Amino acid sequence: MAKGFLDRFSNDIGIDLGTANTLVYLAGKGIVINEPSVVALNTKTNKVVAVGSVAKEMLGKTPSHIKAIRPILDGVVSDFEIAEEMLGYLIKKANAMQSKLLSPRVVVGVPSQISSVEIKAVYDASVSAGARKVFIVEEPMAGAIGIGLPIHESIGSMVIDIGGGTTDIAVIALFGVVKSISLKVAGDRFNDDIITYVKDNYNILIGERTAEEVKIGVGSVLPTGQEYFNVRGRDIISGLPKEVSVSDMDIAKAVAASVREIVTAVQSVLQQTPPEVVSDIIKTGVYLTGGGAYIRGLAKLISDDLNIKVFVADDPMSAVAKGAGKILENLEYFKEVLIKDIHF
Ligand code: ADP
Ligand code: MG
Repeated sequence: MAKGFLDRFSNDIGIDLGTANTLVYLAGKGIVINEPSVVALNTKTNKVVAVGSVAKEMLGKTPSHIKAIRPILDGVVSDFEIAEEMLGYLIKKANAMQSKLLSPRVVVGVPSQISSVEIKAVYDASVSAGARKVFIVEEPMAGAIGIGLPIHESIGSMVIDIGGGTTDIAVIALFGVVKSISLKVAGDRFNDDIITYVKDNYNILIGERTAEEVKIGVGSVLPTGQEYFNVRGRDIISGLPKEVSVSDMDIAKAVAASVREIVTAVQSVLQQTPPEVVSDIIKTGVYLTGGGAYIRGLAKLISDDLNIKVFVADDPMSAVAKGAGKILENLEYFKEVLIKDIHF
């Protein structure tokens, strides 16, 4: 498609505003920023001191007047001002990577349960960071576009996006979301499950970062019992540091109830989806995106339980950002997928 004259002078930006990670896609360049959605705030001055990985490094290690905040939690913008600061920082950083004459157009992927007040916050933050135009798309739709599902056809597709704060299950066809639900059971919950399990079974208190490391190291839902990961924590009886070896079997047990909640939710979406669309999904299969898609055995477990093909998308954590980028590069074609009720 021919680009408008002005567009050649503009460095357009796609953003996946995730609960755990924010990715920025620069038109023509691909993903240029991938940072944790964390902001470090000095509570004495109320000033932001760091954003992204630098801020995440500070988590748990900072002096008491520096607080690390995740502004997007459980799929909602829990802290508007901080979210605005984060978005502004990212847009400016991406903008500085290209020296074009015009300020950028920005496509932002937002959690599907976001309210109109939150949409306005995202819009305002983008404009005050220098966006010339702002377009907003729901993350499951952006993810489906990012992995190349046939969203424009009448064939229904299903995406299960397991992020940090939420799991979003969506059925998509003809540029629209036919049915979707969002549940607050995802990567953060798995971390909490692991903390509780290790405390109850090994009498050791571990931190959230350690729990995440174990999950990434030996996280599986179909364990072999052969893989181990050493974790260091504090013995809850003696109060002293202690190390234990945790197996993939332990992790599978720790997260079993949460995984069950996700499978049940997928089943209920399928039950509420029109039968013709379900038959499309059975033919084409279901796609897992988000960081949670990396948990070993998850695709097979869902597949066996629901008797349906399940695939892990290529590069599952980049799906939404890539989708936002594809939308940018073809705004006219994708205009129907954008959230339309922005009239502030
Ligand atoms: P969001 O879109 O909400 O920002 P992401 O799609 O970036 O979330 O996924 C982040 C989640 O994925 C975190 O909970 C993280 O611990 C989890 N995660 C990342 N890599 C892995 C892995 N290899 N195994 C299991 N979980 C992972
Ligand atoms: Mg996401």
